[in-house]
Amino acid sequence: MSNPPKYTYTVRDTTLPAADDSEGGNKTRVGVVYLVGAGPGDRKLITYRALEVLGQANVVIYDRLVHPSLLDLAPPDAERIYVGKSSAQHVLKQYEINALLVYWAGQGKSVVRLKGGDPFVFGRGGEEAEVCREAGIPFEIVPGITSAIAAPAYAGIPVTHRDAASSFAVITGHERDDAGEAGTRAPGAAEGRRNWQHIAHAADTLIFLMGVEALPEITARLQEHGRSPETPVALVQWGTWVQQRVVVGTLSTIVEEVRAANLTPPAVCVVGEVVKLRESLHWFEEQTSQPLLGKRILVTRAREQASTLSGLLWHAGADPVEFPVVKIVPTETLEVLDAALSQLKHYAWMLLTSANAVPVLAERLEALKLDARAFANTKIAVIGASTADALWEQLRLRADFIPSEAVSEALIREWPDPDLPGKRVLFPHAAEGRELIHTWLVEWGVEVDAIIAYRTVLESSDTESMREQLRKGELDAITFAASSAVKNFANALTQGDAGQLQALVGDTKIAVIGPITADTVRAYGLTPHAVAAEHTIPGLVAALETLFGIFAP
Ligand code: SAH
Repeated sequence: MSNPPKYTYTVRDTTLPAADDSEGGNKTRVGVVYLVGAGPGDRKLITYRALEVLGQANVVIYDRLVHPSLLDLAPPDAERIYVGKSSAQHVLKQYEINALLVYWAGQGKSVVRLKGGDPFVFGRGGEEAEVCREAGIPFEIVPGITSAIAAPAYAGIPVTHRDAASSFAVITGHERDDAGEAGTRAPGAAEGRRNWQHIAHAADTLIFLMGVEALPEITARLQEHGRSPETPVALVQWGTWVQQRVVVGTLSTIVEEVRAANLTPPAVCVVGEVVKLRESLHWFEEQTSQPLLGKRILVTRAREQASTLSGLLWHAGADPVEFPVVKIVPTETLEVLDAALSQLKHYAWMLLTSANAVPVLAERLEALKLDARAFANTKIAVIGASTADALWEQLRLRADFIPSEAVSEALIREWPDPDLPGKRVLFPHAAEGRELIHTWLVEWGVEVDAIIAYRTVLESSDTESMREQLRKGELDAITFAASSAVKNFANALTQGDAGQLQALVGDTKIAVIGPITADTVRAYGLTPHAVAAEHTIPGLVAALETLFGIFAP
């Protein structure tokens, strides 16, 4: 069997991997296809079941309207295949998507077909399920929150209301929804065959998907068939996303309003008296007081660690863009660490200077069938609140000592055990860079077992697309949570060339976790615009809020 080709995040390859062994009818290897609704955009609006199946996916096949950060929920080694669909062009044709589903499931894989909103609301999920049934592939449908209801909800428009509407209908702006989104058909092409009399009176509230380009037809026909020109209409663009925009008018004015606002797909169009409720019920826009609303902020941490920063940024209204330049891998010399962990009672203290060590410890303890009780006689010192957090989250161990500042000097100065000299300290650390702290402890007379527990290696991210985004000024800020992140970022994008890096970064703001990282940024001739006062991930977010917020110059 030949290895299937690797697809990446931005794949534009429309060729299908050769299904060389699927014709052998090897039924024992048939996988499963999950047709999953990703929700309308706000990533918290995904279902619990969707999280479960994403978490164990081998292959994720996703559309344009799926929030990119949801892909991080799949295992790091899962194939991620982008299949469109944007307005003007489909990246893959529907039959090619069908073939991909059959191919990967035929390889025994767990395939998640991730679609915006709900898979059965104009998502062609029905057709894909039929294809699976015909091919004898087991499938499961995971419904999602549809944009048809959620986008109006985030605009403060309830689709039904006791005083205003007792029914709603969801209608496609195209007769056939084969565009996946408005735009590929000439407006009006379908109208001759559509029963507008029926559509106009289908329900009190009419909700059109894929209706932006056909809006002149829709509004004209609805009026022709008896809907008042005064009927309120709203368009909700990118509903539930941080960049949500809403335009309100009436059947007679909305086309002009939309043109004036230059509102483009994707948008949900709501027609009916309920639209008036937005005046009193709008709520999502209140969050515009969030200083980071709509800001695209680059997260350069390793994938394993990115989620805390991304989560906080998201919470503050920003759109985090993850670009991991390194990943953390355990070293080959694990036996040394294993031996130390099996003998923990001989160590008075364990010292951790980075959160990166924690997942490695967790993995080794698990492999050794040990748990937190192994630390019964060993105190733990850590540098940095994020290290302490990781220790608690992943091992349920509390640090006994965290110096007031996340620097080695403070650790030595404030160490709460004056009798430390002569005692043994376990220090699992990174392969790269000998740490000053080690030397100082040894000079102080402490018996330090410094064990290489992990190394950071370059991650093969899509550097070309990152250069492109930077060049076009599509990012508002870049974050660095360590000096090493700055160096790795420079190496990944310009092979360390400072001049080229300055040209790429241009006016993009830079936020760093502390003064040492700030110096590293300066060493490349770049300006750190925001330096976290508290050298933690929340501190970094606070620095960004100040940078973009009301205190900004
Ligand atoms: N299955 C999807 C709909 C797919 S059809 C669902 O249930 O939401 C694509 C159309 O959905 C777009 O043209 C647009 O009209 C609408 N749409 C999807 N996500 C949207 C969003 N976040 N905001 C506004 N409209 C959206």
